[in-house]
Amino acid sequence: MFSYRHAFHAGNHADVLKHTVLIATLQHLLQKEAALMVLDTHAGAGLYRLDGDAARTSAESADGVARVLAATEPLAPALQAYAELVRGFNSGAAARIYPGSPFISQRLLRPHDRLKCLELLPADARLLQRNLEQLEAGRQVTVLNEDGFESARKFLPPPSRRALLLCDPSYEIKTDYQRVQALAQEGLKRFPTGVYAVWYPIIPRPEAHDLPRRLKTLAGKAGRPWLHAALTVKGSKASAATPGEDVRRPGLPASGMFLINPPYTLEAALREALPQMARLLAQDRHAAHVLESGGG
Ligand code: SAM
Repeated sequence: MFSYRHAFHAGNHADVLKHTVLIATLQHLLQKEAALMVLDTHAGAGLYRLDGDAARTSAESADGVARVLAATEPLAPALQAYAELVRGFNSGAAARIYPGSPFISQRLLRPHDRLKCLELLPADARLLQRNLEQLEAGRQVTVLNEDGFESARKFLPPPSRRALLLCDPSYEIKTDYQRVQALAQEGLKRFPTGVYAVWYPIIPRPEAHDLPRRLKTLAGKAGRPWLHAALTVKGSKASAATPGEDVRRPGLPASGMFLINPPYTLEAALREALPQMARLLAQDRHAAHVLESGGG
């Protein structure tokens, strides 16, 4: 079925961007007492060994999380929160265990919040279930071996009327781009005030290029504010993607996070963190970042 396994990519520059944004967003949302539901539509296995075979083969975390943890300069608060959270899963200075999005969310959530994890690959859904069982989180966390694009809608709107939906597909299938857009559209219709966060790869493929533009249009039509953060760590020459190829192989030069209804504090937090991220994770002179927002 799918060849994408996040274990090969855990802790890479795309994860640094995505998880820093996820943590900053959650920290803001959790300031309110009312229960929050986190809907992780493409959850992965939850925990990754950076010294295991898969991660060692690709060694992507060496140019990602490892550089952040080894930084000798003071980190921007959002990047510092990311580094501290990863360190919380490790005993030494270097990271051997990397928490995926379900573990990051669970660590921050309060007992009355809910985390729904959707993962289509049976092996990863089983691994995630097993990994999460150690936390004894009970009813707080649910894992479903289902299609995230399809199943997410049944949770919207959530009973608490507060939700963050993280949509982080592998984009192995070209239609993932359209399905992301359709999910955001359907989500906004069912639950206009939800926070929608989409990760996407920046690669020379028209669908990837178009996605943020389409999401901006979608947010605009719904009258909702949006925020777009992108991180480039190197030039794209060496990484022209062909259909069906794993977009997050070591050649991935850049990626972005697009949020609809972002917390109002996020832009300022990223204005500090993104330039530092680009500097710390730069692989060549093409390293750069984008931060833009609109609507509302
Ligand atoms: N969100 C995770 C994190 O940040 O730690 C990483 C997720 S990984 C990039 C994408 C995951 O989506 C893979 O585990 C893959 O098996 C899964 N997947 C692919 N298509 C899916 C679908 N239609 N519904 C749910 N999961 C899917």
